[in-house]
Amino acid sequence: MEQKTYSLVIVGFGGMGSYHVQLIEPCEHLSVTGVYDLVDYRMELAAAKGFKTYDSLEAVLSDETVDVVLIATPNDVHKSIAIQALKSGKHVICEKPVTITSADLLDILAVAEEEKRIFMVHQNRRWDEDFLIIQDIIQKKKIGETFHLESRVQGANGIPGDWRQLQAYGGGMLLDWGVHLLDQLLLLTGSKIDSVSAELSTILCTEVDDGFTSNIRFKDGLTAVIEVGTTNFIKLPRWYVKGTEGTAIIRDWDLSGEIVVNNPDVIKVEPKPIQAGQGLTKTMAPPSEESTLRLPIGKPESTKQSFYDNFVSVIEGKSEPLVKNDEVHRVLRLIETIFEAAEKQVILKGLEL
Ligand code: NAD
Repeated sequence: MEQKTYSLVIVGFGGMGSYHVQLIEPCEHLSVTGVYDLVDYRMELAAAKGFKTYDSLEAVLSDETVDVVLIATPNDVHKSIAIQALKSGKHVICEKPVTITSADLLDILAVAEEEKRIFMVHQNRRWDEDFLIIQDIIQKKKIGETFHLESRVQGANGIPGDWRQLQAYGGGMLLDWGVHLLDQLLLLTGSKIDSVSAELSTILCTEVDDGFTSNIRFKDGLTAVIEVGTTNFIKLPRWYVKGTEGTAIIRDWDLSGEIVVNNPDVIKVEPKPIQAGQGLTKTMAPPSEESTLRLPIGKPESTKQSFYDNFVSVIEGKSEPLVKNDEVHRVLRLIETIFEAAEKQVILKGLEL
């Protein structure tokens, strides 16, 4: 029997909604057939691309030819659109952050279960090359046992001038970029979180955070610094990871970076003192060239985004979801913990997260 191609309607045809068209194109069994957006101009763009346009969300949901609703609206309305779509018998793909609170996600999942429909969150940065490289370095112990990592994204332009600056829409950088970096972090270790501290920044935007730094300690001893900035005219490396045998760095999305590790074939050479400012130091000398190896960071074997193929396969009961809702829920709980730690200005310890 020929495999069905599922018809998908995009709700919210802005920056990300329209990008999904391009992302879904290679997926053989998922086809974007229509669009609904509140704004006429966005609907005109969709119509010009040959998509069916709908006058209302109700019109999308009552169209029996539609199998899947993809939600790419601002964050505050994800929950209500998702619940209405699930109750109308549609499967749902939802953009990140799936909801503003972890309790809201549970409400959606209860409806998905009741209606026996698939609900999956588009955590697309699980397929980013820089992340896959770091995951490979850690899993293969290329720098020994990893004990500390720093993951950052930094821009210089503040928050783009739209709903992301407003609390009512679920704006702010912790919910926007933080959700990606924290989702990646939790995939790098099987350990539970022990403690969290955090600082939010409100330099260019006072209503929501325009950046944050969070220090997260896991029960297995791994420590992490997660940072999002929008006020950085010079940025720090995207990844900086320390292991017992070496250090890995990825400077940017161009994947410039390197790994420096102990050379197992050479007996460690005593460091020579270097001139450092007004003094000499052996402690801060770089590792000797003879006793270390400088390696390329490598490239992941495949970065093909398998999200949509997986979604179809999950609908057909053939696969487990690659993005699991309990993982997404854990990230939202961590975000809530970060907000709490920042607000109380304390290290939240003894967490079971
Ligand atoms: P955007 O402002 O460019 O687009 C949002 C669109 O939704 C607009 O066209 C707006 O008119 C429409 N809209 C608003 N409320 C609506 C409603 N109730 N019904 C129908 N349409 C509605 O925003 P964006 O940057 O495209 O972000 C949209 C979502 O995608 C957000 O949740 C954001 O976090 C997410 N996003 C994800 C990624 C990623 O890499 N996964 C990247 C960017 C944005």
